Amino acid sequence: MNQLVCTTCRSTYPLTEPIWRCACGGLLDLQFEAAIDRAALATRKPTLWRYREALPVRELVSLDQGYTPLLEIEVAGRSVWIKQDQLFSTGSYKDRGAAVLIGHVQALGVRQVVEDSSGNAGCAIACYCARAGIDCTVYVPASTSPAKVAQIEAYGATLCRVPGTRQDTADAVLAAAETTYYASHSWNPFFFHGTKTFAYEVVEQLGWRAPDTVVLPAGNGTLLLGAAIGFRELLAVGAIERLPRLVAVQAGRCAPLYRAFHGLPEAAPEPAPATTVAAGIAIPKPVRGPQILDAVRESGGTILAVSEQEIARALQTTHRQGFFIEPTSAATIAGVAQVVWDAAAGEVMVSVYTGHGLKAAGKH
Ligand SMILES: *Cc1c(COP(=O)(O)O)cnc(C)c1O
Ligand SMILES: [Zn+2]
Repeated sequence: MNQLVCTTCRSTYPLTEPIWRCACGGLLDLQFEAAIDRAALATRKPTLWRYREALPVRELVSLDQGYTPLLEIEVAGRSVWIKQDQLFSTGSYKDRGAAVLIGHVQALGVRQVVEDSSGNAGCAIACYCARAGIDCTVYVPASTSPAKVAQIEAYGATLCRVPGTRQDTADAVLAAAETTYYASHSWNPFFFHGTKTFAYEVVEQLGWRAPDTVVLPAGNGTLLLGAAIGFRELLAVGAIERLPRLVAVQAGRCAPLYRAFHGLPEAAPEPAPATTVAAGIAIPKPVRGPQILDAVRESGGTILAVSEQEIARALQTTHRQGFFIEPTSAATIAGVAQVVWDAAAGEVMVSVYTGHGLKAAGKH
């Protein structure tokens, strides 16, 4: 049965309940039976909606988005398949989550939402709210890139700049969410059932097989946890025969998951996100942290940390290869270079360009 389930007290709610967390304060997950209609795919457009049997909404807020190219690119002397998710309409893969979440919000009849973001999730939620005619307020850290703030405002969202850390912004939006629906990319499970389309596309683009290794960023883990859901569903319906190994990448300057995974003591206090060029994944207290650790462990993967120097090098190399990505995206590519794998044995590695370089143009 499709329903919302609390990860803390196991309470359940119907999907039609306009809530974003449990009455007990716990995180909600979506219990959802996905299906896939492979025969129908041949006649469907290359968009997220081709996997409609796997999506928990009757309708998307649609820009005909999705099915981004999967290109074979050389990273650190090895060939890697890289999803071009910087090509989404708002300039990052967050469109995947926003298309499904705002589709759900629209079906609920909710007319007003709040969201918080260091940038790209705010852009995506603002964009899809604009398409759906939903009133949207986005809380951002005062330090957010001028380009991202301009984009959020351009979509007509109300902007609320919060001084201090990313956590201060998260705290401010929680207060607002007492009275307004929280279209959160980290709390709201519908967002993850949008980002899971990453896994569906990769498996279809590889000819219905799972890659051996998937290297993804992890701050709040919105892509990583979505991909984990997607690969599990694909396994459950028999579209793939095993789960890929998930490798999560954090910026060394803000790496709580890396520390927890490897049993290192917590950095005290966790450094300010502004100290890394990969600000988009600098999340000191990810709300789904334990789920990220579980997903990586279950897949037999690991969590890496990359230095500022490695990020800068990956960014420059990627730009010179002709791909304009933002600095946060380069952290993942720096992680790819660290992964130990057996290319000679024909192992297939997949990674992603998460965000477009124009997001941060002029800043670096
Ligand atoms: C959202 C985002 C990520 C991943 O962040 P999470 O906090 O793990 O969801 C990575 N790169 C870019 C450009 C992003 O916008
Ligand atoms: Zn609960």
